[in-house]
Amino acid sequence: MAFEGLTERLQKAMEKLRKKPKVTEADLRETMREIRLALLEADVNFAVVKDFVKKVREKATGAEVLKGLNPAQQIVKIVNEELTQMMGETATPLAKAPHIPTVIMMVGLQGAGKTTTAGKLAKKLKDEENARPLMIAADVYRPAAITQLQQVAATIDVPVFEEGTEVDPVQIVKDGMAQAAANHNDYVLIDTAGRLQIDEKLMDELAQIKALTNPNEILLVVDAMTGQNAVNTAEGFNDKLDITGVVLTKLDGDTRGGAAMSIRAVTGKPIKFVGEGEKMEDLDVFHPDRMASRILG
Ligand code: GDP
Repeated sequence: MAFEGLTERLQKAMEKLRKKPKVTEADLRETMREIRLALLEADVNFAVVKDFVKKVREKATGAEVLKGLNPAQQIVKIVNEELTQMMGETATPLAKAPHIPTVIMMVGLQGAGKTTTAGKLAKKLKDEENARPLMIAADVYRPAAITQLQQVAATIDVPVFEEGTEVDPVQIVKDGMAQAAANHNDYVLIDTAGRLQIDEKLMDELAQIKALTNPNEILLVVDAMTGQNAVNTAEGFNDKLDITGVVLTKLDGDTRGGAAMSIRAVTGKPIKFVGEGEKMEDLDVFHPDRMASRILG
């Protein structure tokens, strides 16, 4: 289960504190040390942990907290608030174009869950807004990618625009946009090429597609299981493309939690959705407060 180790360690640290009749500065120091180690073990970015511990300590050191009623409970509350803050405070909705279509570019490394997530998102828009999305197959480097997108789209009954693997992806997107305009599609989801790692050619192509479509959203799909690599990927894509948000996939696995807790703080960009399974309905809006409560158990 996701966050299992972290939740257990945080709970232990808090439990110890709760048992004290009085909480001293030394007790607080010890608790903060345990929280720091728990977060580092969960693969949270080092600088993020440092900043988090500093903020909690500052808030908790106030005489009111230690001398007040239930100091342990108050410290748990502070930890919860700061975790929420660290992950972005409130849910961030999808941006919408003033005139249709709203353009959503899906980017990410191969295997992160980009194609699956594009399908999940299209289904969500259909179900919740009665939307009529068009998906564009712009990954021409893996012939299987187009077939995979078509299979995903067929299960949710959404059309796919494709021109095979011989046409330049930027041209495909251009033609797909024309098709969306002709059909009055209200959303366009562009499934771009994934690579095993960030390279110049991938980034150039994505930058060209961005310049062409002026997307309302550039959603980076990253795999939560890859921990700090997910954070580094997010930094890399954000530097090149100025992404608008992140979708964190595979939170149904036993991820330690580092990516969920670091991405916002490191990149400044919000996690907008989380993937929690392989099925088309397994996509949820990311709520930092609910995630903090889930992590604290
Ligand atoms: P892409 O290469 O980035 O387009 O990745 P795919 O969409 O092909 O996904 C790669 C694999 O991850 C597939 O087997 C998906 O079913 C799986 N996957 C995607 N999202 C999730 C998720 O949230 N949870 C789980 N358990 N599997 C996922």
